[in-house]
Amino acid sequence: MKIIVANKSGFCFGVKRAVDESEKLVAENKVVTYGKLIHNDQEVERLKKNGIIPKDEITEIENQRVIIRTHGVPKRDHDLLLSRGNEIFDYTCPFVKKLQKYAEEYFQKGFTVLILGKADHPEIIGVKGWTEDQAKVIEGVEDLNKIAFSEEEKVCLLAQTTEKQKNFQEVSDLLLKIKKDAIIINTICKATQERQESVVDLASRTDVMVIIGGKDSSNTKKLFQISKNVNNNTYLIENAMDLDKKWFEAAAIAGVSAGASTPDWIIEEVIKEMEEMKETMGMAEAAESKKTPKKGSVVQGKVVEVEKEKAFIDVGGKTEGVLEISEASFRNIEDLTEVISVGDEFSVKIIDLENENGEMRVSKRRAEEKEAIDKLLKAKEDGEVISVEVYEAVKGGILVDVGIRGFIPASLVDVGYIEDLNQFVGKNIEVMVEEVDLENRKYILSRKAVIEKELEKVWDTLEEGKSIKGIVKKLVDFGAFIDLGGIEGLLHISEMGWGKVEKSSDVLTEGQEVEVFLLSVNKETNKIALSLKKMTPDPWTIVNNKYKVGDTVPGKVVRESDFGAFVELEPGLDGLVHISQISWQRVEKVNDALKIGDEIQVKILEIDPENKKINLSIKETLPKPERPKREENEAAAPKQKAEKRTSPRPPREDKKVQEAETETIMDDKGPTGINIGELFGDKLKDFMK
Ligand code: SF4
Repeated sequence: MKIIVANKSGFCFGVKRAVDESEKLVAENKVVTYGKLIHNDQEVERLKKNGIIPKDEITEIENQRVIIRTHGVPKRDHDLLLSRGNEIFDYTCPFVKKLQKYAEEYFQKGFTVLILGKADHPEIIGVKGWTEDQAKVIEGVEDLNKIAFSEEEKVCLLAQTTEKQKNFQEVSDLLLKIKKDAIIINTICKATQERQESVVDLASRTDVMVIIGGKDSSNTKKLFQISKNVNNNTYLIENAMDLDKKWFEAAAIAGVSAGASTPDWIIEEVIKEMEEMKETMGMAEAAESKKTPKKGSVVQGKVVEVEKEKAFIDVGGKTEGVLEISEASFRNIEDLTEVISVGDEFSVKIIDLENENGEMRVSKRRAEEKEAIDKLLKAKEDGEVISVEVYEAVKGGILVDVGIRGFIPASLVDVGYIEDLNQFVGKNIEVMVEEVDLENRKYILSRKAVIEKELEKVWDTLEEGKSIKGIVKKLVDFGAFIDLGGIEGLLHISEMGWGKVEKSSDVLTEGQEVEVFLLSVNKETNKIALSLKKMTPDPWTIVNNKYKVGDTVPGKVVRESDFGAFVELEPGLDGLVHISQISWQRVEKVNDALKIGDEIQVKILEIDPENKKINLSIKETLPKPERPKREENEAAAPKQKAEKRTSPRPPREDKKVQEAETETIMDDKGPTGINIGELFGDKLKDFMK
């Protein structure tokens, strides 16, 4: 028989420190401890023989050197011990001390202090004492539900150092629903958690488990319960005397673990006794032999025959093992022949050496369970990502195959809400292990954690002022959402181009790849502002490179006002055609001559990049009409004189325009044969008629 000791077992940091320091103290002079130094009678007895005397009554301790044990004491006891002339050596575990400090601090600040733990445990009695005994002790969500908090009440939640992590999580979740602003501080000691995880790992790999610890030690009792849930062949002992060799008869591997208050010398005695039992029983040979499978052991098997409801497995013994359909998998199987074939090899657990029919019973499901738990625990510890198959969508989440039934709550499937969970069924997905609850056989996984991990990497690549490629996810009235690799940024419509963009669909289409500029990145608010126009230079910064005064260039009328029309030369670059520059003729109203959308030729009169202004002219693109010749003037004189008699004198500008009103520019083509309709749009042409 092989004996394996759990890698986290026996004295924890706090207990070891208290015992070591007490032994140093007693070497100088006699000391007493207020209460038993640790929860292990044999160790307390040994220390007593060395001069470390436990005293249960505080009134018995006066003018002495007194040790305060790892659990700590209430403030009043501390003060009383001092007032009685004692010299105090405080070996309260630093983790417990921290818990006391939090309790005192929040109590002083006017909070209601809640402590999750056992009210009669010395540690909790001590902590309560730092809140003038006002802290409320609860054991779980049921107790919390019974408390009626007032609206203005401030609440702080703490935990006994040996409390179960899962219980603390449940209580925290509920408290946050009741009191959104509650202060929650996880004061659970890591040593306890490590010992529990280590025992689970060992119990799943061994045929029999021995847990050593004092009968009063709550952490030892918890270790025992946890181990028993994984391996039914678990025994709780205080010392080597409690061992029974029958436990090891069929065992190939035995595991040993011990509570945080169990000294090494007791663990060593137990192991020595087990070694001796093993020799007398010839168990060593049995452990090495694979020819005679033992009940509870996991062995390699080979399928020799398969029927619909059972299969026969060669496990190297004299008889073949029977694998019943219910023992093949944790999932429902209708027909064994559909999932296993003759010649397949896999691990099986021997669950019965001989049933009522004289057959050996084996279980593939239980062997896989051990392996699966090991895998999950390792993945959890290493923060590893594992691949699992989704086999069913149920109310509230999805079920996955991890060798055992794993569950992903809907809230842990993705970072956002997923309406139809059926889309995952039959697919392999990557997950991280959230919780391994061996006591209740609950294995919670999270796909969201994997996505969040990936998103972290994406956030790291996002830097303001840089560009990044993305895919247009959704177009909306005010812009577009761009997928930057799992994180979405907003490209506002005003950032889509240097010119005015009417609709985001004029620029982008959904699914299109686009390179965008990162205007701002705020991880805390989860907001990213993007720009497309910043991917090209502002046209006003390069206007002088592209345009010169005197150039005639095409443009489009984009806006009109009383004093003129704005003409877009290119997106983001609009110039003004003053009303006086529209035509050689007088123009009363801009829209008599131009309409929005007209594509026209304009001459650049002035460029002012600093003030983002360009002055343009339409009339300067046309030859200035000639003055009428002298004879024509004379011929027209009687008519003009007649008009002069009936009309008021036109203003100077009007006069110029009138000079331009000649027959020569009134046909479709201008005086030089230029097509006015093509150049200025029909409206200007109509106006000139
Ligand atoms: S279990 Fe943790 S809190 Fe308790 S004595 Fe040990 S180290 Fe300290």
